[in-house]
Amino acid sequence: MQKIDIAIAGCGIAGLAAALMLHRQGHRITLFERFAEARPIGSGLMIQPTGLAVLDALSLAETVLTRGAPVDGLWGLNTEGEPVLEAAYADLPYPDAVGIGIHRASLFATLFDAVRAEGIAIETGRQVTGTSVDTDGRTLSFADGSASKKFDLVIDSLGIGSPLVPPAEASLPFGALWATVDWPGTGPFNPRLLEQRYRRADQMVGLLPIGEGKAAFFWSLKGENYESWKTRGMAAFHEEVCTLWPALDPVMEQLTDPEQLTFARYAHRTSPHATGDRIAHIGDSWHAASPQLGQGANMALLDARGLAVAMEKSDDLDEALSSYVRLRASHVRLYQALTWLFTPPFQSDSIWPALFRDLFMAPASRVPPGPGLKAHLVAGLAGARLDELELSVPDYTALTRGQSASSTSSRAAALPQS
Ligand SMILES: Cc1cc2nc3c(=O)[nH]c(=O)nc-3n(C[C@H](O)[C@H](O)[C@H](O)COP(=O)(O)OP(=O)(O)OC[C@H]3O[C@@H](n4cnc5c(N)ncnc54)[C@H](O)[C@@H]3O)c2cc1C
Repeated sequence: MQKIDIAIAGCGIAGLAAALMLHRQGHRITLFERFAEARPIGSGLMIQPTGLAVLDALSLAETVLTRGAPVDGLWGLNTEGEPVLEAAYADLPYPDAVGIGIHRASLFATLFDAVRAEGIAIETGRQVTGTSVDTDGRTLSFADGSASKKFDLVIDSLGIGSPLVPPAEASLPFGALWATVDWPGTGPFNPRLLEQRYRRADQMVGLLPIGEGKAAFFWSLKGENYESWKTRGMAAFHEEVCTLWPALDPVMEQLTDPEQLTFARYAHRTSPHATGDRIAHIGDSWHAASPQLGQGANMALLDARGLAVAMEKSDDLDEALSSYVRLRASHVRLYQALTWLFTPPFQSDSIWPALFRDLFMAPASRVPPGPGLKAHLVAGLAGARLDELELSVPDYTALTRGQSASSTSSRAAALPQS
């Protein structure tokens, strides 16, 4: 395609990745971000093999691996001490494959530094409120009443609250409190596992290693209970968490002020259209979901890749936008459905989803081909069409070779025995 003027609205994971790819194809890119200084919000997340494949294609996989923590699997127990969530990357047919727990700020910095190093234009302090199109191009309008020049294409990477798509109908009932803590030096914690504990499905606590000596702590909470949680006091919270998972005492000792925890509300929404006249929606602005399956950032990276591949292969913008949708829609639909299905067994008031999880889902998933299927689902690889995105699962053995020399923890051969 001939080189065109592209506005990318939103300096998040999707926007930064798209900016890098399309700039490298020679397009003229301007990023717009509401914050005076581009910055990330939140604590930890998981980079799956799909997301790492995109970062690898951007030559950023090693940086992310260095900044994050290799995670061999997910391990969650109910109050009876029975494993009800088990998934191991060793069950994938890719040697040394891992997930990467990483602080959102580290992932952001990796992408943002690359964007800056390549001299891509960023306009900060630009709160996007709308967009309009005519035959000559598409403009963005801003909260201060100003408008951008006309662009050949606008990419909406404004996240879940994008004003350029119909709003999400409602938040999901459960969200989570998140905090970044020092990795607990004492206690029975495996630094290569994402661990969780559940009481039925209405209480869930987790600890994710995110590298650089840190962990992300998270606690499920209903949105309607957030205000009362803030006034209840940290001593009561400490006790409630440690009743569910006593070993977390050294983590809870670090959390003495409600301000240390951020409450994240989740929503489940797929916009009716991923593209329109001179506009493409990528990442959460197209499809948002609860982070139960840990895919959002990875899906955002895959969307950016899908759009870039489509743009490179087509001579015509409309054709490129249709091709982008073809490359991504089935994977998006599949994971939106899976996240919808798998959220209630882990976040719900009702006893039934938890019983289903404990009595049927978890035992059945241990029977072959269950472990391999689970690993593919968690890795984001089910239906991901990596070939068509001109991606392959990274060579983890080569990527981790440099790391293993300095690593203090060796890879867990398997999950703890169930
Ligand atoms: C608590 C939590 C945990 C999660 N855990 C995981 C996980 O383990 N693994 C995973 O893959 N995903 C996880 N996710 C999901 C993941 O964070 C998102 O899917 C991902 O960030 C989406 O990227 P994005 O670029 O589409 O949007 P965002 O990262 O939200 O970026 C949007 C950008 O647009 C800017 N912006 C927003 N509105 C405007 C406006 N009006 N004008 C200008 N700029 C604007 C924002 O400031 C931001 O920079 C989690 C999400 C949450 C909330």
